[in-house]
Amino acid sequence: MDKQQEYVLRAIEERDVRFIRLWFTDVLGVLKSVAIAPAELEGAFIEGIGFDGSSIEGLSRVSESDLILRPDPSTFQILPWRGGKHGTARMFCDILTPDGESSPADPRNVLKRALAEAADAGFTFYTHPEIEFYLFKALENETDPLIPIDNAGYFDHVARGQGHDFRRAAITLLESMGISVEFSHHETGPGQNEIDLRYADALSTADNIMTFRSVVKEVSIEQGFTASFMPKPLAGQPGSGMHTHLSLFEGDTNAFYEPGGEYQLSTTGRAFIAGLLHHAAEITAVTNQFVNSYKRLWGGQEAPSYRCWGHNNRSALVRVPMYKPNKGQSARVEYRGLDAAANPYLAFAVMLRAGLKGVQEAYQLPEEAEDNVWELSDTERRALGIDPLPGSLNEAVAVMERSELVAETLGEQVFTHFLANKRQEWTDYRAQVTPYELARIGLI
Ligand code: GLU
Ligand code: MG
Ligand code: MG
Repeated sequence: MDKQQEYVLRAIEERDVRFIRLWFTDVLGVLKSVAIAPAELEGAFIEGIGFDGSSIEGLSRVSESDLILRPDPSTFQILPWRGGKHGTARMFCDILTPDGESSPADPRNVLKRALAEAADAGFTFYTHPEIEFYLFKALENETDPLIPIDNAGYFDHVARGQGHDFRRAAITLLESMGISVEFSHHETGPGQNEIDLRYADALSTADNIMTFRSVVKEVSIEQGFTASFMPKPLAGQPGSGMHTHLSLFEGDTNAFYEPGGEYQLSTTGRAFIAGLLHHAAEITAVTNQFVNSYKRLWGGQEAPSYRCWGHNNRSALVRVPMYKPNKGQSARVEYRGLDAAANPYLAFAVMLRAGLKGVQEAYQLPEEAEDNVWELSDTERRALGIDPLPGSLNEAVAVMERSELVAETLGEQVFTHFLANKRQEWTDYRAQVTPYELARIGLI
């Protein structure tokens, strides 16, 4: 046993933890959990805990269903909402095959592989997500109408606001679990909120996003609301994005920073953006994985629809945020396509590999878009070389199917399973008759 594992065993005894939840995600980023007793933990560290992977979306084929969970001791945290006495703790797990190899189907492992490739090129990858979500009055059934908890807008300070209290409670829990929060505010939509996590290495950020979703759900139940990370829950209102700020470091130095460069961006930073733009259509099925995701991407309201970059241009897919004087280490690029319902492990892996490809092959960055690209005509956009992102899950899947970059990044098993799952989603969706159609054609 190593030092971290010993530390966890000691902490469990000293803090009277009775349940240890082992956390992992399926291919779509749904959190899974199994609780073990403290007496089982030593064995879990050494040999792992077996489970039936075939019952979990995308983890294994039925013929090779046995998988093993091995907890990662560096992710040990007490779950503060489960009470102090006889408490509950959690650890994220790596998934192994019965012969002890990392499972190719484990999303956490997909991200670890992409990070290892970046490390081979001398880089560490940091991310900082801005997570948006809606708070609705508690739903009893999935088909109940969605009623936002308030009518406030961007940055509104609502006296006695419920959103205010909600954010305060959620942030207190997050901080007690070692997850630092940088900003939080009311977003533009009624009942819409945003909480931004401080930047961290991409694996920790992805783990933190999974924890964040649980915390938000817990607090919403506690306070009598329903929280939703759905990309576009309300027609005509803004969707919920998960804009993510990305940077590469070489040791302690931000590789995107170059004093005197345009927007203080280095050649590496420019090539990284070029890679993101070049491969944006291929990675969109992963960054925007649901039928509903495309209602956000084509709904305006500050969600990107076209492949372009800009400085302070909020219609751009990639934005270079305002430079803060004397803060070279904060040089970064913001990818605005990602939505709040993505699997963060897979999404970070494909964004990293797209940017890295730009750096490795020295892609040239096209001209920046200075205008609001939604307001240009198709002809104007074409003249500027600005293409649309895929317009539907169906289109996104068709582009992803032909992508070598995504196939390589996800690995064969995840790539194949993800595509099959998404094709099925599209097939199911096509068969629906929606209220919109009834209202429109009912008149004929
Ligand atoms: N809600 C917008 C989106 O879906 C983003 C608003 C903002 O700029 O923060 O991407
Ligand atoms: Mg926002
Ligand atoms: Mg943003």
